[in-house]
Amino acid sequence: MKTDMKVKKEIVQIVRNLIKQKRFFRQDLNKKRDMLFETFKEFQKVYGISGEIVIENINVDKPKITSSCYFPANSLIFLDKPSLINFLHEFRHLLQYKKYKKGNMDKDTIEVDARLWSLNVFKKASKRAYENAEKKKLLLYTLENIRKENWTTKSLKP
Ligand SMILES: [Zn+2]
Repeated sequence: MKTDMKVKKEIVQIVRNLIKQKRFFRQDLNKKRDMLFETFKEFQKVYGISGEIVIENINVDKPKITSSCYFPANSLIFLDKPSLINFLHEFRHLLQYKKYKKGNMDKDTIEVDARLWSLNVFKKASKRAYENAEKKKLLLYTLENIRKENWTTKSLKP
């Protein structure tokens, strides 16, 4: 499976600044949340799209658990923790629905696309941060293993 995806240079630059200049990963939860709000506004400017974001500080101590999601009906991103990778993932869903009108595509294609986009942005912004997250097993899935989802299969089974 081809996992390299073209992503906008401006977006990569914003995320690179966030990681390298603003030292996102070293901040506390409230600061991270503020930074993601700011990043959301910057991303919106790049794509010229509206939308809302809500970020809570729950599940922060559980790296393997997340209930982040995107609600197309009100163009709302919900994050249960100020996670950069979750933010990128849900922002891609916002783009899919609002910018590219792909909401009618099958859920699997949409999900894989969001995973590829978020991981590509992250890795292009900072290869070091990406590899570090991979090594520490902080990612629910990786570019090597886009479907490592014991977490979803577990929660989806009746
Ligand atoms: Zn998703």
